[in-house]
Formats: sequence, C-alpha cells, structure tokens
Amino acid sequence: MVQTEKKVKLAVNGGISFGAKLNAKQLMVIADYMNDEDELELTTFQQLYIDVVENEVEIVKERFKEVGLSCYPVGNFVKSVRTCNFCKGAEEEGMPVAIELNNRIAGIPVPFTLRTAYTGCPVGCGEPLVNDIGVMKVRDGYDLYIGGKAKGRDATTGALLMAQLSPEQLYEKIETLIRTYAEKGKKREPFYTFIHRYGIEELKNEIYK
Ligand code: SF4
Repeated sequence: MVQTEKKVKLAVNGGISFGAKLNAKQLMVIADYMNDEDELELTTFQQLYIDVVENEVEIVKERFKEVGLSCYPVGNFVKSVRTCNFCKGAEEEGMPVAIELNNRIAGIPVPFTLRTAYTGCPVGCGEPLVNDIGVMKVRDGYDLYIGGKAKGRDATTGALLMAQLSPEQLYEKIETLIRTYAEKGKKREPFYTFIHRYGIEELKNEIYK
C-alpha cells in the first residue's frame, strides 16, 4: 500500500507593502515545494494557501522567509491584516503602523477566523468597514471600526468604536478586543455574533479599563 505523506495548509503572502504582490523569485520558491498536479488556492484575503508536507513545515517557512514571504496558520486565527496599496506613500498612509499591527495580532488563536483590514485614507481601498476589525487612517489619527460583515444577506458595515487614536492606543485597543473575544467568545462564534451577544457598550468598557 502506498503511504501518502501527511500535509498541512499554510497561508502565504508577500507581507505588507505597496499592494498584495509576489515577485518572480518568491513564485519560484513556492513552486519548488509543489508537484505538477498540486494547486495553490487564491483567497479573498490577500493570502495563498499551499499544502506542505507536515514534517517539512519549519524548513519551508524558513525558506519562504528568506525570500520575503510571510507564513500564517490557517483556521481559527486572526488573519494577516488586509491593506490598501498605500498609493500616497508609506509614511503618509501609515504603512509602518499596519506592519506593526500585523506583527502583533496575525496568528492569534480565536474562536472563529477573524478578519482585520487597514486602509491609509478615507477612500477605504482596504475595505475596513466590511471586516471584523477595521482601521482607517484619517489625517494624523487612526479610526477603529468593529463588526463589519461582508458575507451573507445580513452583510453590514462596521461601527466606529474609537476615533483619532495614536498608533500605541490603536495596538492596545485592538489587542484588548482580540483578547476579550478569545477569552469570552464561544467556540466557532464569529466576531460579528460575539459583538452582538456581548454588547458594544460592554466591549467599550473592556477597552477603556
Ligand atoms: S485607501 Fe487611500 S492611500 Fe490607500 S490605496 Fe486607497 S486611495 Fe491610496
């Protein structure tokens, strides 16, 4: 009987930069770990899903990192932060803040997949209002939205939770929101459902503590 090697799914992207792009070298390195019949899945979330042999995962992650690819777990975790293209410039539109936010929260285990999005100006190309947690840079501050829902007949935009935060305030508030959801959310309870069960005012109390 032919033994097939166990595979695990990895989410991969080119990290936060001027748009969701991959260069030729990155594509070639990804292809090195694929057989002719293997497929890459393109998600709606600026990530590619690739199946890799379980006992090679750490080697693959290291090789991907060498060419600037970022790897994330797949499943009930905070997804990597979806961003806009920073068309007006990295500093002006807060790319370092988006990168730091991503470093802090992507991959945290939560009751159900949690989507976050960042956009560098009110045009909103990163679609922050239709994600679980959305950030919009407005002038020199960061506005924080929660409870957006892009899917389903009850799709809706998120509510503004706090406006004109500093970067440190933004990280702290989002980390508190995620920690509260991780601790008090029910198993497989989407963030949108959790917010409405837990209550927006109670959540505000948590993040003002
Ligand atoms: S949200 Fe603003 S900064 Fe970002 S890509 Fe769109 S227009 Fe450019």
